[in-house]
Amino acid sequence: MKKSAIYPGSFDPITQGHIDIAKRCLKIFDNLIIAPGKNDEKKPLFSIEERVDQIQKSFTQYSERVCVVSFEGLLVNFAKEQNVFTIVRGLRAVSDFEYEFQLSTMNKKLDHRMETVFMMTSDKFNYLSSSLVKEIASQGGDVSCFVPPHVLKELKKRLKK
Ligand code: ADP
Repeated sequence: MKKSAIYPGSFDPITQGHIDIAKRCLKIFDNLIIAPGKNDEKKPLFSIEERVDQIQKSFTQYSERVCVVSFEGLLVNFAKEQNVFTIVRGLRAVSDFEYEFQLSTMNKKLDHRMETVFMMTSDKFNYLSSSLVKEIASQGGDVSCFVPPHVLKELKKRLKK
């Protein structure tokens, strides 16, 4: 049986840190569903359609094993819809741990089939987050090594407005 997992997140925008986690997951799982959450309360810079498109363009070589599906509402409901109960999350600093621990425990309480697998960040990306990328880019800093070229282009365009 094929092993599948869901990698949920905001991906606003997708960074090399996310891409690294997803590619390493593909060594463990046969298929990966990358799932940007709509999450309008977080006031994302990019719309859900833009984020789906940015993620898809980052995984064109993996199109047979990676699919990008956005979701709204509870992750457990999305997991049920997809019939995939393994969740992948990345861990950077210790500060990620507390929130992720709470989230994974809550997901399990909501549905006992939910299992969360944590991937440690690669050391070259442990400082990297979408919010920092947006902050640096908005101040005119160079973020070209943190995001793929197509995302860099869109960031520049968006922040010029
Ligand atoms: P969320 O708002 O759900 O935290 P993010 O897009 O910020 O969404 O992150 C999605 C997941 O990817 C989280 O588990 C986060 O810890 C992980 N992640 C983000 N950036 C990195 C990175 N540089 N290295 C490893 N994991 C990361």
